Amino acid sequence: MNYDIKCTVCRQWKTVKVDILEFNAWNSGISIEDAMPSLNASDRELLMSQTCSLCLTEDDLNPDTEELPQPADANKKLTETYFETQGNMCPLCGSENINANPFNSDALIAWRDVDCYNCDNTLREFFTMTEVEKL
Ligand SMILES: [Zn+2]
Ligand SMILES: [Zn+2]
Repeated sequence: MNYDIKCTVCRQWKTVKVDILEFNAWNSGISIEDAMPSLNASDRELLMSQTCSLCLTEDDLNPDTEELPQPADANKKLTETYFETQGNMCPLCGSENINANPFNSDALIAWRDVDCYNCDNTLREFFTMTEVEKL
């Protein structure tokens, strides 16, 4: 799928083509190098730091200098908050003024986007197949 990211430096929207399974693996907390081997380094950096390759400095590309905050951790916190409220509240601003869009699916994964009308953010809910039964 195409994942749109706004570069925090130049404010341009960039699109990274990600494998949904790899993306999900990364979201589950696996390090991005292990989770998303099919991405090149600059796309990984874009996902991790929301900084596009044009705006990255040499320092950013040298991971020794500073430990970048992992969005996977931020996602985990969001997910926890979201679970606590049964998905009835925007985990970013606490508003109940949210609307879930129809489901999309690919292989064994489904997802849907939820718009928050209060803070204007969109969240993506991921669902995984948990059980199959013969009907
Ligand atoms: Zn940029
Ligand atoms: Zn919100």
